[in-house]
Amino acid sequence: MSVYFDYNATAPLRASSKKVMLEAMDFLGNASSVHSFGREVRRKIEFSRGEIAGVLDIEAKRVIFTSGATESNNLALKNFPGRAIVSAIEHDSILRVREDLIVVPVLADGTVDLEKLEATLSKDFTAPTLVSIMAANNETGIIQPLAEIIQIAKKHGAYVHSDAVQAVGRLNFPWQTLDMVSISAHKLGGPSGIGCLVINPNLPLIPHIRGGGQERSYRAGTENLLGIAGMAAALRDSAQDNLQLVERLRDDLEDLICQVFPESLVLNRNVPRLSNTALFHMPGVKSETQVMNFDLEGFAVSAGSACSSGKVKASAVLKAMGLDDDKSSEMIRISLGPKSTRSEIEAFAQVWQSIYQKCSPLKNLERKAQRNGYESVCSL
Ligand code: PMP
Repeated sequence: MSVYFDYNATAPLRASSKKVMLEAMDFLGNASSVHSFGREVRRKIEFSRGEIAGVLDIEAKRVIFTSGATESNNLALKNFPGRAIVSAIEHDSILRVREDLIVVPVLADGTVDLEKLEATLSKDFTAPTLVSIMAANNETGIIQPLAEIIQIAKKHGAYVHSDAVQAVGRLNFPWQTLDMVSISAHKLGGPSGIGCLVINPNLPLIPHIRGGGQERSYRAGTENLLGIAGMAAALRDSAQDNLQLVERLRDDLEDLICQVFPESLVLNRNVPRLSNTALFHMPGVKSETQVMNFDLEGFAVSAGSACSSGKVKASAVLKAMGLDDDKSSEMIRISLGPKSTRSEIEAFAQVWQSIYQKCSPLKNLERKAQRNGYESVCSL
């Protein structure tokens, strides 16, 4: 069995996305050329931009193509001429962009501390201010109260950016109410290496990559036609995903694991969160050990956030939510997708139980005690 439960890391390429990219491979021409070849490429790019804008319900001219959300976040934060306020649970492509970030904490339920945000905004400051808060967290799936954040920020004359990588296609939100939005195609079932930053044209953002003036001069460079066409198709298709079905599967999976170990749920089920994401705690078993064992059993899951070296770092997100180091190092993330099935979650729950029995030190002690003629060591 080979089961992919790591959609928040990247989603499988959609057939529609692959199809339009294969077709786009036969296009010849630079979109900036005036001849018919160039015009044909330009038409395709602008058609795709229009499709993306249509799904997001924004003006097409606000879509600036980039190489992905890492670049979009860098452009939004680094090139904003003023102070930047972010939350403690942002992706590294926000948290590592500037030395002078003002970081607002999150509450134990993983949502931004709105009182602290307001207090920070109230401090005397003359330069323009940008508030950057992600729409939904990649590790926990917790959805931030963006509408309230926008309201607070606007009261203090601040602009608002949101890293919406995990939320676009999975969450309905009036994206046009934000000043900037970062989106990545590969999380939606499009290709990697392409994304966009939606920009409010009145924003004082300094251009990012200088050159031939493409993408309204914010981000010069010959456009990635394949990526742009593939991204538009993936975003369009994601609107058709049956997210209620995904949510039912995720909830059932949580119930199944809870039957084995009732305290395995980490997140408060009442907090708004993405329909596809679950976090499980397996007491006494390190996340890396779990990931390796699940991999051996044919399940692709994730431990915290994987960095480029493939090593697993302690989760700064769970730490910011107040979880202790022991618990946060014994956690795995399951992220389902529209193709996940009931038989997959049932098989996963069984494997979870067998890995727990095999690897948990407490269970090992129990087995040893039983071999030695003791009933149980749980009462020790
Ligand atoms: N922000 C979030 C919340 C993410 O999950 C990711 C991808 N892990 C990124 C930004 C970076 O996106 P990309 O891979 O397109 O650079």
